[in-house]
Amino acid sequence: MISAQAARPPAPALMPARAAPRIADLVQRICKECFRPFAQKRCDQKYCTERNCRRIANQREESRAKEAYRALMAFRDKKRGAFAAMTNIADRWRREDKQREDRYRVACAEQGVEA
Ligand SMILES: [Zn+2]
Repeated sequence: MISAQAARPPAPALMPARAAPRIADLVQRICKECFRPFAQKRCDQKYCTERNCRRIANQREESRAKEAYRALMAFRDKKRGAFAAMTNIADRWRREDKQREDRYRVACAEQGVEA
């Protein structure tokens, strides 16, 4: 009979560096953009690397910044309805973010992954 001690793999210190899996590789997360599971490689990683999700999220942020700039300048130039336009933009972004967050939490629950 093989003892439990003999069946164990060698201690990580005895294995070549490349063969030892990093603990972080084993942490499953849900991508905040596409809501698909991925193996987190950094503790602050929010997006998967397979579908340009970080770039998509950054592009959305840049697009919002441009929209906010135009709305602010219209307000500064006292254009009629400019303040209402700014609040409408903010409300739309809030709704979009809430929907995205809800989808993220549902995906985490479905995959049994910590949000
Ligand atoms: Zn993704």
